[in-house]
Amino acid sequence: MKVLVINAGSSSLKYQLMDPSTQEVLAKGLCERIGIDGRLTHKVPATNGKYEFEIPMPTHAEAIQAVLDALTNAEHGVIKSMSEIDAVGHRVVHGGEKFASSVLIDDSVMAAIEECIPLAPLHNPANITGIRACQKVMPGVPMVAVFDTAFHQTMPARAFIYAIHYEYYEENHVRRYGFHGTSHLYVSRRAAAILGRPIEELKIVTCHLGNGSSVCAIDGGKSIETSMGFTPLDGLPMGTRCGSIDVSIIEYLMDTHHLTIEEVMNILNKKSGVLGVSGVSSDFRDIEAAAAEGNQRAQLALDMFCYKTTKRIASASAAMGGIDAVVFTAGVGENSPELREQIVSSLGFMGIKIDPEKNNIKGEERDISAADATVHTLLIPTNEELVIAQDTAAIVGK
Ligand code: AMP
Repeated sequence: MKVLVINAGSSSLKYQLMDPSTQEVLAKGLCERIGIDGRLTHKVPATNGKYEFEIPMPTHAEAIQAVLDALTNAEHGVIKSMSEIDAVGHRVVHGGEKFASSVLIDDSVMAAIEECIPLAPLHNPANITGIRACQKVMPGVPMVAVFDTAFHQTMPARAFIYAIHYEYYEENHVRRYGFHGTSHLYVSRRAAAILGRPIEELKIVTCHLGNGSSVCAIDGGKSIETSMGFTPLDGLPMGTRCGSIDVSIIEYLMDTHHLTIEEVMNILNKKSGVLGVSGVSSDFRDIEAAAAEGNQRAQLALDMFCYKTTKRIASASAAMGGIDAVVFTAGVGENSPELREQIVSSLGFMGIKIDPEKNNIKGEERDISAADATVHTLLIPTNEELVIAQDTAAIVGK
């Protein structure tokens, strides 16, 4: 079976054509500048081929058509015709409380995803546009929605309820949802496989540390607590997002700087986090380089990020009453031995210790625990596309 995985953003669209049973990626790529002009980067892993095209993409429909043309192209294509694509799996950011697992897309599912737009005004409209574009260009091909929020629907009420009027939850759906669910799910399953133990027996803390970051407590394979909240703004400080702050700061900044609520929210979403503190960049590589050259604010941004991540690992463990493994994944988690080391450096009291030599690695699955650690520390590159493709194959195959 061949599944096309689509991750549609407002002006971009990532894709992978994959065989979920063999896990082979036949082709992958990225459409950028949709609605502006249009650029397609298409890669074929089997031949290490990389192809770049300037193609007009006024809407996502032209982007999807460009992807299909690239996939079926005589020279750099990997399939003969579109009919070889058995199904499409779409990443959808917010499924609210309606979706605790992936679903086959029909009119009622589309309506439910639309109902979640107020909960994810930046993301869900782009995801919907991607689905509609595929439906237009690939009529009759079954499509599945895989939600970032679904994995966290197992959180108990005590973990997802905010301490505000209960009516805001009942009537307006204000609660913790959590995101990065597909990533937390994937790495926790891989962790169980690496440890050779049933996931039902394990207490795992997964740290998805990238441009967006979240920590998740996974008890017996189920998410019971996570750091992102009603939106992906909550929890850890991120590349440009502030993470958890005292909400009174919003009113104070509005008054002091004569800012509108939109302006303050824009600052908290796009100009805060490690960018805001360092003043250097949202990219951890730039910040690490600046800190190494003696930039104090860059060092502070890193120290703050590590400190808050450390605390989250401990609190996630407390939420489960124990921990068997901590997992690092995503851009920073997979690629920065220095930050991994700093994050766990004060968790020795919990039995979390890493071996500096084993930790000196990037982007590969490995148990990096020290010999005398009682908790495993694992490095596991995430693979959200694989989960999307496997869920899609399972649902369409039924
Ligand atoms: P992601 O959102 O998972 O794609 O992660 C992106 C982030 O990973 C970027 O902002 C980078 O700061 C970070 N990153 C990628 N490679 C490295 C590296 N070698 N060292 C530190 N951070 C990295």
